[in-house]
Amino acid sequence: MQSRSQSASKPSALRHLVVVLGDQLDLEAAAFDGFDSTHDAVWMAEVDEESTHVWSSKQRIALFLSGMRHFAQALEEAGRPVHYHRLGGADPTSLAGRLQADLQTLKPQQVVLTEPGDWRVLSELRAVIEAAGLSLEVRADRHFFTTVAGFAAYAKARKSLRLEYFYRELRQKHAILMDGDQPAGGQWNFDADNREAFGPEGPGRVPPRATFEPDALTREVINLVNTRFADHPGTLDSFAWPVTRAQALQALQRFVDERLTLFGRYEDALWPGEPWLYHSHLSAALNLKLLTAREVVQAAEQAYRAGRAPLHSVEGFIRQILGWREYVRGIYWTQMPGYAERNALDAQQDLPAWFWTGQTDMACLRDAITQTLEQGYAHHIQRLMVTGLYALLLGVKPQQVHEWYLSVYVDAVEWVELPNTLGMSQYGDGGLMASKPYVATGKYIQRMGGPCKSCRYDPGLREGERACPYTTLYWDFLMRHESLLAKNARMALQVKNVARLSDAQRQAVMMRAEAIRSGAVGAGA
Ligand SMILES: Cc1cc2nc3c(=O)[nH]c(=O)nc-3n(C[C@H](O)[C@H](O)[C@H](O)COP(=O)(O)OP(=O)(O)OC[C@H]3O[C@@H](n4cnc5c(N)ncnc54)[C@H](O)[C@@H]3O)c2cc1C
Ligand code: SF4
Repeated sequence: MQSRSQSASKPSALRHLVVVLGDQLDLEAAAFDGFDSTHDAVWMAEVDEESTHVWSSKQRIALFLSGMRHFAQALEEAGRPVHYHRLGGADPTSLAGRLQADLQTLKPQQVVLTEPGDWRVLSELRAVIEAAGLSLEVRADRHFFTTVAGFAAYAKARKSLRLEYFYRELRQKHAILMDGDQPAGGQWNFDADNREAFGPEGPGRVPPRATFEPDALTREVINLVNTRFADHPGTLDSFAWPVTRAQALQALQRFVDERLTLFGRYEDALWPGEPWLYHSHLSAALNLKLLTAREVVQAAEQAYRAGRAPLHSVEGFIRQILGWREYVRGIYWTQMPGYAERNALDAQQDLPAWFWTGQTDMACLRDAITQTLEQGYAHHIQRLMVTGLYALLLGVKPQQVHEWYLSVYVDAVEWVELPNTLGMSQYGDGGLMASKPYVATGKYIQRMGGPCKSCRYDPGLREGERACPYTTLYWDFLMRHESLLAKNARMALQVKNVARLSDAQRQAVMMRAEAIRSGAVGAGA
């Protein structure tokens, strides 16, 4: 492939080289503070390694490349000189390698970068910049409400880190959903109103999600991905994600106008063949910085204040962004690099190969994985309580689970993906993030609207040929970790139930779990 530098007459003496990564597509980012087009230039590069260090899905690669190419256009329109490398044949295949080569020719006085979203990228870039004898200025990412240092100070002052109090402090500090010094509606948390499933008739007509027809630049990227990354997971037939700020703003408006009202009520609900439901689908736009967290939170609060959306929905939505999103970022940057290696439950099983194809006879997993590969998207409960739960109960090595999540979702950037996967979903950090492992039987999936009716397994059965693998593995999980879980007060009831099993019942569960682990159960559509 051809390598191209979309550039910019080179300034005679380059002052700042502003490095912009694929998830930093914001003209107002801190790295541009004081940018002077006569002295400074922007550097961006497409490199194979960012799509291959984990086996990235075609949807994820296409979104990042299209977003980057559109952003380079926006930079040029704003008169900012850009050195932009398109994917090419013999070029260095890593970001660090590409930058190293360019530092020799561009010879900037200093490199400037907004805080990246990935520890690996920061350490590799830092190493080549230092090796070139240059200084690197890393500027705080204003996109977030909190700073990494602020989170570290918060964490230091506490014995255990839990979301709730962190979130309340941020609500107060930033005056979000506050009436004076009290939370709007007199309550901090409306979770109890936000756990409904659809009735037997299902969700009915759900407003269609905002889609964006690929333009010429995106079509070019789609062709590139289909040829250069042909063997990568997923398809691009339905690619319709927002790739520019203008499109992301339209997607936000559509969410607030059409889905926010029912977001809270059906936040945890599942329904077969309905991937989008009342979720916002804004995570990728947020993570690529096409939208700011502040404007999304403000748009939701304004809808409440104007009487256009109920408080429980708006609070539930804001909690995800102001709460969880900020919280997981703090966990990531205060715990890395050791965090990625943690495996508190000593899980050693391999991820089933069908996670990469969706070819399993478990209807809920087939639904969630097929949709993930086709769209690069699954909503939170599918990630946590369908794919994540299965991997946790099966005992898959958290690092393999982490690689899968980082590969397949369009919104996957390590700072947000890793704590959610390793911490929240797999309990790999031993309870730093979640106060207990999120474990349940197939009955939970059935209750929340999963496709159990059309599945060959029965969620109510623990043993035997028709036993739902989730249900068998749930009991097996409790048995395998009985002594560890007995120390956790929040698991007391579940541990008590497992203690009631007879030896014969235990034996039957273990044998069936072994068959599932060996691959004799679950594979094949
Ligand atoms: C195993 C696992 C892996 C995940 N990996 C990612 C990931 O790579 N990237 C990612 O952005 N989110 C991840 N999440 C969190 C969450 O599932 C997604 O943010 C959400 O499903 C995206 O869809 P949405 O935009 O429609 O979200 P909505 O349901 O509409 O929620 C609104 C917004 O809140 C934020 N949000 C919601 N939950 C979380 C959370 N737990 N952590 C951080 N932000 C949250 C997102 O920005 C999201 O756009 C993961 C969750 C799990 C359980
Ligand atoms: S029966 Fe079990 S495997 Fe089948 S859809 Fe329900 S929860 Fe999933």
